[in-house]
Amino acid sequence: KLYNQVQDLKGNIRVYCRVRPFLTGQPNRLSTVGHIEEGNITIVAPSKYSKEGRKSFTFNKVFSSSATQGEVFSDTQPLIRSVLDGYNVCIFAYGQTGSGKTYTMSGPKELTEESVGVNYRALGDLFLLSEQRKETMSYDISVQMLEIYNEQVRDLLVTDGLHQRLEIRNSSQNGINVPDANLVPVSSTSDVITLMNLGQKNRAVGATAMNDRSSRSHSCLTVHVQGRNLTSGSILRGCMHLVDLAGSERVDKSEVTGDRLKEAQHINKSLSALGDVISSLAQKNSHVPFRNSKLTQLLQDSLGGQAKTLMFVHISPELEAVGETISTLKFAERVS
Ligand code: ADP
Ligand code: MG
Repeated sequence: KLYNQVQDLKGNIRVYCRVRPFLTGQPNRLSTVGHIEEGNITIVAPSKYSKEGRKSFTFNKVFSSSATQGEVFSDTQPLIRSVLDGYNVCIFAYGQTGSGKTYTMSGPKELTEESVGVNYRALGDLFLLSEQRKETMSYDISVQMLEIYNEQVRDLLVTDGLHQRLEIRNSSQNGINVPDANLVPVSSTSDVITLMNLGQKNRAVGATAMNDRSSRSHSCLTVHVQGRNLTSGSILRGCMHLVDLAGSERVDKSEVTGDRLKEAQHINKSLSALGDVISSLAQKNSHVPFRNSKLTQLLQDSLGGQAKTLMFVHISPELEAVGETISTLKFAERVS
């Protein structure tokens, strides 16, 4: 039995790579992405930018820069649907600032039906599926939206602009939870859009050299599902975390000072803690170092065991980004 459980672990971690297209307004430029075939991606780095030369990486799937939001979602859908069967799911967006994390999870600034990201599509799909199952199951769906900034947990679903320092608790009844964060019942996509707009507005943004609205925090949309079987009365619970991680770029210490440096150190620490947790789960280690960051503490119940994990790693195509691209892909290979 134990052997089977352990075998399951690795199968429950998936890594998808997504390449951002060049942005409109960017002149036609050379890309570092040389070749994509199924799960393989080859990065070609001109010697001016990196000593690595050509380097290939293998993941469960690679989405080229022409992949649509719909295509990306359809590969994620089965995982998302398993929440309604009582599984815990974590979906992460990892990558340097500007590589498309928020685009994948939420979409671009101006949302259209085609461009909405995984978050909205996931909730929409859960509503649809729970409606289809209404003869046999009754579902309650509610959401929380948290932010981890400088190792402090804040509630993004507040209207008074106050950001409290929230505690992560572990109770035998509810497992890991953040009891003081708003937990809002939702029953339609428009409920979700209202909440996400509020959450986005509350998210901490700071100026960096790369992107003046770069997010220096992790945001986590958590969907709690409770299902009751109408015949037997039995209850199942599932939960899904949709995590838009802070930018993974290494910060040149000579360029940042004070608050920016502190932010960067917190981000580094929590991303490497996440990498350590996922790779020790993938390697079936008996000790998993959940306690090294707030992020991994918060997600502890939804990483490992029967839980399912999907990491979207994002890369930018520009030559100047190749150093970050390669370190992103190395991080991703370590966890897959
Ligand atoms: P990050 O969240 O990683 O900092 P963003 O998601 O904000 O990056 O993406 C940076 C810019 O690139 C945004 O203007 C975004 O709309 C655009 N972008 C990212 N991915 C894509 C994509 N797959 N297709 C079109 N535009 C994209
Ligand atoms: Mg972002």
